[in-house]
Amino acid sequence: MTVDVSTARHPFLDGKPKRMLIDGKWLEAASGKTFETINPSTGEVLARVAEGDSEDIDRAVEAARRAFNGPWSKVKPFERQNLLLKLADLVDKHFEELASLDTLDMGAPISRTKGSRLRAVGMLRYYAGQATAIHGETIENSLPGDYVSYTLKEPVGVVGAIIPWNGPLTATIWKIGPALATGCTVVLKPAEEAPLTPLRLAELCLEAGVPPGVVNVVTGYGETAGAALSSHMDVDKVAFTGSHITGQKIIQASAGNLKRVSLELGGKSPDVVFADADLDAAVPGASMAVFANSGQICSAGTRLFVERRIYEEFTSRVADFSKTLRVGNSSNPDTQIGPLVSPEQLERVTGYLAIGRQEGARPLSGGARLTDGDMANGYFVPPTVFADVRDDMRIAQEEIFGPVISAIPFDDIEEVIARANATTFGLGSGLWTRDVTKAHKLAKGIRAGSVWINCYQAMDPAVPFGGYKMSGYGRESGKQHVEEYLNVKAVWIKTG
Ligand code: NAP
Ligand code: MG
Repeated sequence: MTVDVSTARHPFLDGKPKRMLIDGKWLEAASGKTFETINPSTGEVLARVAEGDSEDIDRAVEAARRAFNGPWSKVKPFERQNLLLKLADLVDKHFEELASLDTLDMGAPISRTKGSRLRAVGMLRYYAGQATAIHGETIENSLPGDYVSYTLKEPVGVVGAIIPWNGPLTATIWKIGPALATGCTVVLKPAEEAPLTPLRLAELCLEAGVPPGVVNVVTGYGETAGAALSSHMDVDKVAFTGSHITGQKIIQASAGNLKRVSLELGGKSPDVVFADADLDAAVPGASMAVFANSGQICSAGTRLFVERRIYEEFTSRVADFSKTLRVGNSSNPDTQIGPLVSPEQLERVTGYLAIGRQEGARPLSGGARLTDGDMANGYFVPPTVFADVRDDMRIAQEEIFGPVISAIPFDDIEEVIARANATTFGLGSGLWTRDVTKAHKLAKGIRAGSVWINCYQAMDPAVPFGGYKMSGYGRESGKQHVEEYLNVKAVWIKTG
């Protein structure tokens, strides 16, 4: 189906308040309350959404537990694989609609969200493959006498999944996919800023035949619904993606029943450009490593280290490139840079623009909110390049989560490794060079979960992604991700 996103006449936006999915039924919040979700390009209200809180979380966790202990525990790997493949086909079939819902609700340009088809569908197909690849091991032991020892892999149980707003479709799939593959059940709490795509995806789960209670979606606020989910005594694991500050609260909330926690948090990732790099590739590469999705990507390469002898030339080329990017309403197919997600994010990012200037950084492009023409009611910040940034400035240390590059000169490789690591975070990192020795040295030396060489932000469902240090722990994608949703049980048999 081709969906017209230039108007907000999206088939999912029928004017009715959106309900939550609990136990296979679409329900209002127990309190009857709702909240608004808006289009950040225009400030218009897209829909009212059920405002779930602890009572709704209780209902959803009960349903998830019943499903986990009951029929879902008997479902064989082939059947779980089939469900995931059916869901993949449905996501493929309805992809335009899902992509445009992401665009309307969180503001990523339609050119970007439409480009995520392979990723979204591919993730589900990858997890479908993993559903039939789960196995324990037979392990030789050295006990005197005759014993056989082997391991079983079992689903951890009820998973509470809490996601941010910066990529609702793929973030939802990243939580639901491994849960279905392993035989867990899930209660998902989407971000308040972008709850619509997760709700539409939940409809597709039902259409694919996912049984009642296996996937539940409780929309609402973090401080209420999210907190209730992360502290719930009958949730076995919380899979969280978001800021490190909320991540710390999740760990505290997990203490009551010592539930398992995996955390995909933020970053202040270094991107290092050596003078010997292919600069024609590095200019757009290092620029879009930050400006894509208006900088609202956890692993964005926001600390741009540039070798001193090309520093002036390179930073001015990046600034020139940034000025060519078309900023505007994200439903316009020509738009390359959409708005920030919310007035709060706008305030946060423009606050950092002021801080950068106060700290003595030199703006080469962007630097102030855009309000021209029909951007007046949206939350637009243009791509911004700050030069003459020092490591100790706040714009070099704190995650801005906006389209802001902090460009920093460096002189040699040992120095840049140490400075790249001088951050509390460790999520992404990049480097641009033609010298394989330098490339390998940095790949080993940088303390981060991903290193991109002569590229940035490459992702695949089979390749693990996650953080070092305060960027969190646990991995998403890859075999490691599936293990996060499994317990290992050792079985001993005395055969003598
Ligand atoms: P956030 O404020 O931490 O919110 C993330 C989620 O947690 C939202 O659903 C939020 O609900 C919920 N939440 C808030 N307070 C909570 C609490 N006390 N207990 C339980 N849940 C709570 O982060 P954000 O501002 O939405 O997202 C931006 C951050 O996410 C950035 O730091 C970014 O780097 C990080 N991120 C990381 C990755 C990754 O894979 N590593 C990916 C994307 C984003 P509400 O929406 O209702 O507040
Ligand atoms: Mg919205």
